[in-house]
Amino acid sequence: TSYGFREVREGEKQALVNDVFHKVAKRYDIMNDVMSAGLHRAWKDAMIASLNPRKDPSYRTLDVAGGTGDIAFRIIEASDRLAHSTVLDINGSMLAVGADRAAKKGLSANLDFVEANAEDLPFEAGSFDAYTIAFGIRNVPRIDVALSEAYRVLKRGGRLLVLEFSEVEMPLLDRFYDAWSFNAIPQFGKMITGDAEPYQYLVESIRKFPNQEDFAAMIRAAGFSRVAYTNYTGGIAALHSGWKL
Ligand code: SAM
Repeated sequence: TSYGFREVREGEKQALVNDVFHKVAKRYDIMNDVMSAGLHRAWKDAMIASLNPRKDPSYRTLDVAGGTGDIAFRIIEASDRLAHSTVLDINGSMLAVGADRAAKKGLSANLDFVEANAEDLPFEAGSFDAYTIAFGIRNVPRIDVALSEAYRVLKRGGRLLVLEFSEVEMPLLDRFYDAWSFNAIPQFGKMITGDAEPYQYLVESIRKFPNQEDFAAMIRAAGFSRVAYTNYTGGIAALHSGWKL
């Protein structure tokens, strides 16, 4: 099916993604609430409940594509402010908003912010107890490379959690969701940022992302064990889990 978008080549993709998030950084949090009708909060809470972070200062997590900090902040809070999280993102504008928010919440001591690419992580092998990525991996041009990097930087016994939009598996919800994402989301994008095209690209990127089973197979191919997933809201989002054993 064509929705009128041009095909995006791999090399071009990262530049387009970076442009979207530079433009939207300051309004990202509000856009998230509007576009997911607040659902992203419940999905993120469920992700952190599934992670169940240790209440321990030596517990180290890496939140990739961490943007404005939503996942890392939840991990720190769930650890009674004991754990440490590194927020990594390719986009300095998103990280700047995240660092501001962290300071306002009094969480700066538990966090650091690193500008880098998920495909090439600037950490030694075996550095982290958990690797999280929420609504980030579909933006990365080479997903297999990002997953191999996740495997490398985790300790033995470490946990991978990926929250991402997925394939809607409920008959009526899928139609409503199509109408919402192809019409409402680019319109909201235009209203809030003055430009619909970046959002059309993001909606399209959700359609191109592998479904639950195919993505689970990619995670296994990167070396992870006990790979499983849970659907949220009929599959609008899914949480994939794997272990480095
Ligand atoms: N995890 C946050 C959340 O759930 O609110 C932010 C998600 S936001 C939709 C996607 C993020 O992925 C953006 O901040 C973007 O800069 C980042 N990103 C895109 N490509 C990346 C890459 N290759 N490496 C690291 N981060 C990337």
